[in-house]
Amino acid sequence: MTQTDIGIKTIQLTMANRNNPFYLTVLWDAQDIVLVDAGLPDQMELIRAAFQEAGIPFEKLTKILISHQDSDHIGSLPDLVQAFGDRVQVLAHETAVPYLAGALPLHKSKKLVRTPVKVDVALQDGDILPFAGGIRVVFTPGHTPDHTSFYHIPSKTLIAGDALRAQDGILQSYSPIYTSDQVTALQSIAKFQVLDLSKIIAYHGGECMDNLYDRLQAILDAGPVENE
Ligand SMILES: [Zn+2]
Repeated sequence: MTQTDIGIKTIQLTMANRNNPFYLTVLWDAQDIVLVDAGLPDQMELIRAAFQEAGIPFEKLTKILISHQDSDHIGSLPDLVQAFGDRVQVLAHETAVPYLAGALPLHKSKKLVRTPVKVDVALQDGDILPFAGGIRVVFTPGHTPDHTSFYHIPSKTLIAGDALRAQDGILQSYSPIYTSDQVTALQSIAKFQVLDLSKIIAYHGGECMDNLYDRLQAILDAGPVENE
């Protein structure tokens, strides 16, 4: 990559879990390198290695966007914040802020986050972040109350977090056992249908490009699903 380009790349944290790697997304422009989500605790070195493999300078990271409060998305956030200090800003939906700050117990564990993190910029639905040519905030609660997706406008790529999953390049619904409010989760998925989509990236399962609108409609038509 060159620092003058605008870009987006999915990086895999494969060693985290060989059968079910995490797909983090990195976006960049001349000023900023933006990471979406932060793996499990103790994975900062894996993230660094994944940047290196992708040819992206980890030390130039300036922004971290958080999709939601689950431990496999915020686990290494405290280490990243500690390592980068003032050089990195944390951005998350305003609903996520009290969970990340340790003011509200996490939705799944019912415990306060182990290491609180201060969110520098609280986001709202529809905000356009001026990074990598423009990233739209799409508030998508349901999986958790704070779940938020990010739409990269130039590449027409939706970073869907855990609002959706993927399997072998085929878009799949959210994980029912890990999604507390399926009715709300489906309403959130319906918001994706009005986006101009070339690609969807699921944190669990990776990139999908085929039949995106057909798959979204099929997921909505299926409605709430029984636990697997
Ligand atoms: Zn999750």
